[in-house]
Amino acid sequence: MTATSAPPRACSICGWSCPDLSPAEARLRFNRCSRCGAWVCDAHFNENRGLCVRCAPRICRHCGRPVLPGSQFCTVCGAPQFEPQHHSGPNRTADPTQADL
Ligand SMILES: [Zn+2]
Ligand SMILES: [Zn+2]
Ligand SMILES: [Zn+2]
Repeated sequence: MTATSAPPRACSICGWSCPDLSPAEARLRFNRCSRCGAWVCDAHFNENRGLCVRCAPRICRHCGRPVLPGSQFCTVCGAPQFEPQHHSGPNRTADPTQADL
């Protein structure tokens, strides 16, 4: 198997897959970690580092401590963390950078 350019089939962390999407669309939904090469969904990709959350754990935007993948709240300060948007439509209206606290 030499599928170096194979399109992503599923997030390597949570296993989320998008069988209804074409390979081209699937590429847009997944992000490739530049360190380990794993394809992960948006929820498990640290876009600030270009790495998956296993290589670059997400940082609490409130206290700056690492947040475990899948955690809804920071274990240090309790601040709510990024929410996975797996099943949202292609047109995102929510701005992840906005402060809603
Ligand atoms: Zn995932
Ligand atoms: Zn990685
Ligand atoms: Zn925190």
